[in-house]
Amino acid sequence: MRGRVLLDEPMSRHTTFGIGGPADALVYPETEEDLRRAIDWFRERSIPFKVIGNGSNLLVGDPGIRGGVIKLTRAFKQISFSGNTMLVGAGAKLACVIAAAAEHGLSGLESMMGIPGTVGGALVMNAGTDVGTIGDLVSEAWLMNDSGETRIWRDRELGYGYRESALSESRMVVVGAALALRPADRVDIYAKMNRLREKRASRQPLRHRSAGSVFRNPPEIAAAKLLDRAGAKGMRVGGAEVSRKHANFIVNREHATARDVCELIEQLQRLALTTYGIALRTEIEILEDT
Ligand SMILES: Cc1cc2nc3c(=O)[nH]c(=O)nc-3n(C[C@H](O)[C@H](O)[C@H](O)COP(=O)(O)OP(=O)(O)OC[C@H]3O[C@@H](n4cnc5c(N)ncnc54)[C@H](O)[C@@H]3O)c2cc1C
Repeated sequence: MRGRVLLDEPMSRHTTFGIGGPADALVYPETEEDLRRAIDWFRERSIPFKVIGNGSNLLVGDPGIRGGVIKLTRAFKQISFSGNTMLVGAGAKLACVIAAAAEHGLSGLESMMGIPGTVGGALVMNAGTDVGTIGDLVSEAWLMNDSGETRIWRDRELGYGYRESALSESRMVVVGAALALRPADRVDIYAKMNRLREKRASRQPLRHRSAGSVFRNPPEIAAAKLLDRAGAKGMRVGGAEVSRKHANFIVNREHATARDVCELIEQLQRLALTTYGIALRTEIEILEDT
């Protein structure tokens, strides 16, 4: 195996929630070859592994992760341009990608403003807002399968839907992607970015650690509105609290454990069901290993 390897690494250091016990091994591949070797190494030993991005949509259990975690770095953070197409590594942070596109006078990514994920995580989750999602922009994704073979999936194969894609269930590792953008006036792009940044700051509890929206929006009503009406704001289990600013955010107020968050999630699901007859499904991914 090549690249930095950390043993018994607390996942609380790698999730925006700041929660999660240790992973047996956290590997940082710097190149595609490193990634292939890491995948081979885990496969040959029948050790399960999970690729993560910025851990901004994850709740990792208190016992941690038995097996490997792969976090892409170096070559996977590269960004380049070919005309109006942006070529991005899966490990690049969305904030860097959005800034680079704006600098090049290319529009399309502004709707991702403030999403604290990487390109890889965004492609898998089809991250976005009501203004647009990354799936609208991906023309192709470069992938690596469990055997270390590379594949290209075009937009139609990626099966984008609301916060989901064909990648979610595929076990494919996203290596990078091509994003089709539109030329636009830089001033307009920056103005839109600022507008969306301010909107987010006014609505979301950005001073506290969280994993963003906990629940997917059911078809009937936005999850935040439903939970607010049901009186969920301020509900608390241990160090985990439903944000008083945004009812679909659970924030880590004081050394919350994954158990605290899971219990609070269950309470909110019961509340939504008994008050409105609506079953809420989680948007955050819960990685529990007991
Ligand atoms: C304050 C805050 C605000 C947020 N706002 C939004 C929002 O407006 N819209 C929105 O959609 N989301 C939002 N999120 C959630 C989150 O930022 C997004 O889902 C983001 O796309 C997750 O990216 P990540 O790199 O952190 O992925 P992670 O959380 O690390 O991983 C998410 C999933 O992607 C997989 N994955 C990650 N990288 C790869 C890869 N290279 N190959 C294969 N699989 C991979 C992981 O295995 C996991 O299944 C918010 C989160 C926070 C904390």
